Order: sequence, then C-alpha cells, then structure tokens
Amino acid sequence: MASRRIAIVGGGPSGALCAERLASAGFQVDLFDEHLAWEKPCGGGLTHKAVLNYPFLLNGPHPKKMIHQVQLISGNGDRAHLCLDHPIVIYSRAVLNGLLLERAASAGCRIVRSRVSSVDITGERPSFTAENAMQFADFLVLASGARNSFFPATRPLAPADLEITLGYFVRSHADAIQVKFVRGLQGYIWSFPRCDHLSVGICGSLARHTSRELHQHLAQFMREERISTEDARFYSHVLPSPRAHTLASRRIAGRNWALIGDAAGWVDPITGEGLYYALRSGELLAESLVSGQSELYPRRVRDDFSADLEVAARIARNFYHGNFLGGAVTTRMIQFIARSTTFRTMIADLFSGAQNYSTLKRRLWTQLAATLAEVLDSIFRTAKSTTPSPSPGDA
Ligand SMILES: Cc1cc2nc3c(=O)[nH]c(=O)nc-3n(C[C@H](O)[C@H](O)[C@H](O)COP(=O)(O)OP(=O)(O)OC[C@H]3O[C@@H](n4cnc5c(N)ncnc54)[C@H](O)[C@@H]3O)c2cc1C
Repeated sequence: MASRRIAIVGGGPSGALCAERLASAGFQVDLFDEHLAWEKPCGGGLTHKAVLNYPFLLNGPHPKKMIHQVQLISGNGDRAHLCLDHPIVIYSRAVLNGLLLERAASAGCRIVRSRVSSVDITGERPSFTAENAMQFADFLVLASGARNSFFPATRPLAPADLEITLGYFVRSHADAIQVKFVRGLQGYIWSFPRCDHLSVGICGSLARHTSRELHQHLAQFMREERISTEDARFYSHVLPSPRAHTLASRRIAGRNWALIGDAAGWVDPITGEGLYYALRSGELLAESLVSGQSELYPRRVRDDFSADLEVAARIARNFYHGNFLGGAVTTRMIQFIARSTTFRTMIADLFSGAQNYSTLKRRLWTQLAATLAEVLDSIFRTAKSTTPSPSPGDA
C-alpha cells in the first residue's frame, strides 16, 4: 500500500474522511485544498445516521450545538413543532472541516494548502497541477465539492440538478431549527442555530428560480422572524439536487479516478442533506481501494444510499409542487404534524435521518388509519372547544 500514492483534491468532509481511512490503511495520501478548514456556506446540520456512523462527531470535544426542536412553517403561515428523539448536531463548518482534517493528518496524510488547477487521467498514471508543479499519483480522488470544475470522462451536473443557495451567518442565538416552505418555491428557507450564531438561508432550483427571487423570499422571512442582518455575513453557493435519472446514470468513477461527496452529486434532493453522503461516499471509496476493488465503488454507493436518494428525487417534485386535499403538500404536511402524533413521529424520524425514503411509503400506508383518526379527532375537538355553549335563554 505504501507504494500506492493517492491524491485527493478537496479537503471538505468527503475528502478528509477518505484521506483518513486510506492513510490508516497504509496508503501514501496527499490531500490538496485551496482553503483547508474554512467556513463553507452550509447549515452544518448532521443527522442521526451521520452520528451513528461517525460517533466522534458527537463525542469529540469540538464545539457543536445539539438541536431537539424544529419549527416548520407553511406557505400560509401555519406552524408545527417537531420534538426530535435523535438530535441534529450542528457544527460551524470551519470547526467540522478542521476536526476531520486533523484526523486525516494524525493518520499520516500529507495535507497541502494549494489549489489544483488541472487534472489529466489519460496517461498511465493520473497527473495534476498543484504547488505550481505537475504531479503524479496512482489514483485521483475528486472531492472538490459542487463548484468543482473537474469532470474527467463524465459530464457536469446540469442546472436542473443544482440549487442556488444564499444566506447569512447572523450574530444571534436560538434553540430550535426553523424551516419555512414558500408556495411555488422548489426549495425552502432555514435557520440553523450554531454555538454562537445562526446560519439562515434559502435554497431553490437553479433551473427554476433566480437569486433575486430567493433574496426577496429570504428578506421577508427574516423580517417576519425579526432576524437582523446587521453585522451578518452574506454567503452564496451551489448545492447538488440530483434528478433520479442523473443519480442512476451519471458516471462517477473510472480506472484511476473517482468522484465523492458533492462533486459526485450525492445530496438528498428534498432536504439538501449532503454531509452524511459526503462522509459515507469517502468511506465507501476508501474501503473499495483498500480491498483492491475500486471498480466496486459505484455499486457499493448504490446499494448503500444512492438508490434511496433516487426514491427521494422521484418524490421531490410532488413534495414541493404537488397538491393534497386541495392544498399544497407541504401545507397539509404541517397541518397533519400539528394534529397527529403518529404522523409527527414519522416526520421527526425522517427529519433526523432515522427514517429512509425507501420504506417511507409503506410506513405512511401502515399508519394511515391511525393518522387520519388522530387528525379527525383533533379537528372535532377544536370545533367543539370553539363552538359557544348555548345560554339558558336560547331554549
Ligand atoms: C448553503 C448550504 C447549506 C447546507 N446545509 C447542510 C446541512 O445543514 N446539512 C448537510 O448535511 N448538508 C448541508 N449542505 C450540503 C453540504 O454542505 C455538502 O454536501 C458538503 O459540504 C459536501 O462535502 P464535500 O467534501 O463533498 O465538499 P465541500 O465541503 O464543498 O468541500 C470541497 C473542498 O474542495 C476544495 N476545492 C475545490 N476546488 C478545489 C481545487 N481546484 N483545488 C483545491 N481545493 C479545491 C474547497 O476549498 C473545499 O474545501 C449545505 C450546502 C449549502 C450550499
């Protein structure tokens, strides 16, 4: 292994975890990042499945915020609260990237602050330009995120597979996540509390929305929620939101190269969760390389999570644009959450990453009778409590 040189472009969660695993297995690993531990535009929220797979994210000494409460707001202002059994753990990205890079360095990876300006996979060994020189490796890992410009032997993500995001790091405190849906927006607005600030932002399909439109929705939300932009730092980035056929058909690896994390497009197209898939794809690629079977990487990813993301991609359009019982799906979802404990528990599991998409439909059907009974019961109880009782004179 020591004679095999792996070069990793990008030191975000996918590249850093992949580097740690490969260096621990004895590979000679060089990781290149132009920024290293930086405050990448992100909510920074890690779900239950991430924490279960990578317990150091929960147990380590680095500052993080544990969130048990989520407030969901519909397009017409209805609100519902979720209480999470499994908290969402929120990191600042500078802290998260820093801790993952520290682990990679401790495992023996050489970490280099340098921009990689070109890659070439056509030769016997892949080559790339970094530290102002052409370099060679036996295998090239492209972990350079959604803004990545390297797509050897594959195609870039199309605008319909991407979202624009923009937002602010705000000097303020909160204990609950807020998520707001906006009628007609394929995306949502969020406020994620971190240890000493909030990450407040909005995402929307790049093919459908302009950044001006997103700015207006976000400004209105911040006014309504009294979140000030004074001293706030603005950010903007792209986020993969892959369609089902992109997930099923896009090439993500070749003989001497592979894409991981956002560069591969591994993000949940409904929630925008990408951190878990970045970490997990980095781990799956490392395992494939360690076992000498890098060609198995695409299959392993598919079996592990990308088939589930395909299910999410098929639901996404209906989720954001569909109607149910004469109202927007997101509005009905929030009304159901407010009125049914069974439904609320299911959405809390989905939100915290304990419920996947592949078995969601079965769970919805199995629990439909209980959900409807609770919703109807709640409606009748509300009606009864608001109906004035007849006064003696009415008789
Ligand atoms: C606004 C926003 C909010 C989000 N919120 C959440 C959330 O709350 N929870 C969640 O799970 N996911 C969230 N995501 C998604 C999450 O940020 C990504 O899925 C995750 O960062 C992907 O990790 P990565 O390592 O693949 O890429 P990145 O984290 O993007 O890392 C790529 C790295 O490559 C480096 N790089 C790029 N090009 C070069 C080059 N040419 N040379 C050298 N270095 C290079 C960059 O400096 C960067 O450090 C959010 C995304 C956005 C945009």
